[in-house]
Amino acid sequence: MVTTLDQFETVIGLEVHVQLITNSKMFCSCSADYSGAEPNTHVCPVCLGLPGVLPVINEEAIRLIVAIGLSLNCKVSDFSKFDRKNYLYPDLMKGYQVSQFDLPICENGWQDLEIDEGLFRCGITRVHMEEDTARLLHRKNAGGSYSLVDINRSGVPLVEIVSEPDMRSPEQARAYLISLRQLLRMIGASNANMEEGNFRCDANISLRPFGETELGTKVEIKNMNSFRSVYDALCFEQVRQAKALIEGENIVQETRGWNQEKGITISQRVKEEANDYRYFPEPDLPPLTLSNDFVENIRSEIPELPSAKKQRFVSLGLNEFEAGTLSEDRSRANYFDNLVESLEGKSERAPKLAANWMLGEVARWDNEHVGKELSEFPIKADSLAELIVLTEEGVITNAVAKQVFEKMLSDGLGAKQIVEKDGLAQLGEEAGDELVAIVRSVINDNDKALADYLAGKSSALKFLLGQVMRQTKGRADHALVQSLLEAELEALE
Ligand SMILES: [Zn+2]
Repeated sequence: MVTTLDQFETVIGLEVHVQLITNSKMFCSCSADYSGAEPNTHVCPVCLGLPGVLPVINEEAIRLIVAIGLSLNCKVSDFSKFDRKNYLYPDLMKGYQVSQFDLPICENGWQDLEIDEGLFRCGITRVHMEEDTARLLHRKNAGGSYSLVDINRSGVPLVEIVSEPDMRSPEQARAYLISLRQLLRMIGASNANMEEGNFRCDANISLRPFGETELGTKVEIKNMNSFRSVYDALCFEQVRQAKALIEGENIVQETRGWNQEKGITISQRVKEEANDYRYFPEPDLPPLTLSNDFVENIRSEIPELPSAKKQRFVSLGLNEFEAGTLSEDRSRANYFDNLVESLEGKSERAPKLAANWMLGEVARWDNEHVGKELSEFPIKADSLAELIVLTEEGVITNAVAKQVFEKMLSDGLGAKQIVEKDGLAQLGEEAGDELVAIVRSVINDNDKALADYLAGKSSALKFLLGQVMRQTKGRADHALVQSLLEAELEALE
């Protein structure tokens, strides 16, 4: 296919909805954690939308949205208000959604992203508070199709994060989502899992000729349920629009749905004008006034963000890849910090050693236990540090260290205990006689390798060395074995 994208610049803006992690819902005391709950069990007159009941603002949700806004470099308003967004749909219990219209809590921020081409800053238009809707479950039976309503989700705190149309490629959009997810998890505001539905993304995309400053007609894409599908939908849509423009067609301003199976977007509804939601101030809730102390208190409690963590890890001597991988997840970063702290004073290479183990053996455990966090890793950081120190001090070899690591995982014992119990200490100078005996027996038992060696094949030495290491179960000092072997073989020449 001839690429049609060379003539146009792609312009992308994203709207992300995230469910907050709070104990109760936004305006009532029902539990907000409905995962695994029987449908319609987390309900009360407020989130059922019965007349005559009054909502109460969840302070924890306000704390979290302020933390999100501050982390995204937004201005936090000392005065904002809630508004009713009116529309009729079966998932909306009251016939309106409590949201924020003209006075959102947070505005005018940005998020810095690292992409292959370098650093890129994406503007954040606004971050506002609203409530989630009920969930519709669509079913089919012989008589036709029908829908069920689960009200458990109704009223769960929802934050909408609207970006500026600053992204110029599906790659940038993906980088934005990944960094937003990291940030939300790092500050503990949301699980931010697209597949679980607590992180949802709609994308606005338009094309314009390079050099043009006016925006082209935009299309909104919905129904994407993974980062991959957002990326694929944007890739598809930019090609579809480019082809249409080249053929002289007008782009229709519309909402299109992503069809994962077919890999295409499909027109859902044409927007002739902006939807009229007839917003008006929510009469049952007072305006929200946030004191400077309240905001500054939250600012002081925001943990180190992923980008700052990464910089700090680089300053410890890690490379970009190591620092990036270790900083992207909170529990991983915490484990790394604890490990470095436990190693401090015991090795000058503490950060590098910690990173090697984190990205090696520990990452392997992490990969094998999908859905678990490193905070659940059975070996505590100070125990792992003990193992690393034993290796660094030459008490055990690297090969044995890996065996001990496995034993620590399976038996829950400490590294020193395992080394003593199983007699795994490295065989060094003090075990010279023992090693010489093993070296001699290996030479005796391997005539072919010996002949090869005497014929000048250097690979034979490697083979014999391997045999000695095998007989000692990896415990022998590698360099020592090599010199002993060479001495014995020299004597035979
Ligand atoms: Zn309720």
